[in-house]
Amino acid sequence: MSLSKQIRGHYMCYDAGKEFTSAQVLKYKLFLMDEIKDSKLDMAFDMRSTQRIDGAALMFFKNIYEQLSKEKRKIAFFGSTPEVQEQLNSINSFSVYATIVEFERDFHEINPELNRTFFRLSEGKGPFRSLRMICPLCSYNNVTGFIIDDTYYRQKWSEHEIVPVFEPEEQDPNAIDFSCYQVAVCPKCFYASTRLDWFTIVFPEGRYESHLTPENRAKLSNTTHLRRNLAMGYSGASEESFFRVPREKSAAYLSWLLNEFSLKHMGEQRTTDGFDIVVSNFMMCKFALKEIDIDDHMHTALAWLYGIMENKVNYSTLRLAKTYVYLISVLLSQDKISEARKFYRELERDYKDIEDCKYLINRAQNLLLN
Ligand SMILES: [Zn+2]
Repeated sequence: MSLSKQIRGHYMCYDAGKEFTSAQVLKYKLFLMDEIKDSKLDMAFDMRSTQRIDGAALMFFKNIYEQLSKEKRKIAFFGSTPEVQEQLNSINSFSVYATIVEFERDFHEINPELNRTFFRLSEGKGPFRSLRMICPLCSYNNVTGFIIDDTYYRQKWSEHEIVPVFEPEEQDPNAIDFSCYQVAVCPKCFYASTRLDWFTIVFPEGRYESHLTPENRAKLSNTTHLRRNLAMGYSGASEESFFRVPREKSAAYLSWLLNEFSLKHMGEQRTTDGFDIVVSNFMMCKFALKEIDIDDHMHTALAWLYGIMENKVNYSTLRLAKTYVYLISVLLSQDKISEARKFYRELERDYKDIEDCKYLINRAQNLLLN
C-alpha cells in the first residue's frame, strides 16, 4: 500500500489523508520504510485534510525521525488542524508548520528570520545598511552587501512595474530603490547573488559562513572566466567602486545580468531556478539603457515563465501564484487577452483558498480590469 507523494523543494511530500492512526501505520509502514531507503530527500507529511492522528502515529513518525536524523535528513508536517498541530508539537524534534506557504518559505529564499538577524548585526543606522562580506568563490574579503529593514521597506505593487518593489509605508524623501542594490557582486571574480547567505558575512561579533554547497561552488568556479568576460564588456565594471553606493543604472543592470548568469551556472539544468531568472530579466528591463535589450529580456522572461508552468513541482506555492501574475502582465502587454484570462481562471481556481495568495489574485484581477 502506498501514499500519494510529490516532490516539493528538498522534500518528498506524502499526503497523510483524512486520518493517520494505528490502522494507517500498519498499512503504510513497509512502504514508508522503503521510501526512507530509496530517496535521499527530506520527508514531509501534508496534513491539510487530516482530522485525526493518534499515539501510534506519533510513535511511528518519531521512529521515522530517528532513522532520518542518522543521515542528517529532516521530517516536517504542514497544514494540520490546531489539535493535530498540538499533538505533533508534543514531540520536540518535529518541524510543524501551520500552512503550506510557511512550510515552503525557505525553499528558495533566504529564511526571513536569518535576514532579520543579519540586519540587526549590520553596521550603520537607518533602514538601509551595508554588510562586509567575503566572496565564496575567490575569497576576496571586501565585497559589500546591502540589506533593508523589512519592517520599514515593504513589498508593494506599483502601476508601472511587473514585480513588486520595496517601498516605505509612508513617503520618505530619503528612500532608496532597493532593486538597485539587491544583488551583491564580488568586484574581483564577478560572482553575484541576491542571496546574502551564500556569501560569508563578517560581523564584529563573528562570521556567518557561506551556505553555498561545494557542488555549487565548483560549478560556479568553472565559469569564472566567462563571467569576467561578460562583466568586462561593460565600461567601468573593472573599478572597485562600480557596485558600491550610489549604483548607477548601468551597474544595477550589470548586477542583475551577473545574478542571472550565476543562477544559470550553479547547478544541473533541471534544478535551475527559473523563477529568479524571470525576476532578473524583469529587473534588467527596468535598468536597460537600450530598447532592444528590453525586448530581449521580456522574451527571455516569457520563455522561462512557460517553463515554470511545465515544471510546477520544482516551485513553491507562492512562487507559482506569482508566476501566474507575471504571465498575465506580460501577456496583457502583448494584447494576448484571452490567454491572460485563461491563466487568471486557473490562478483563481487553484489558489483562492490560500490566504497568502489572495493579494496575488487581487493584483491579477486589477491587471485585467485596466
Ligand atoms: Zn569573487
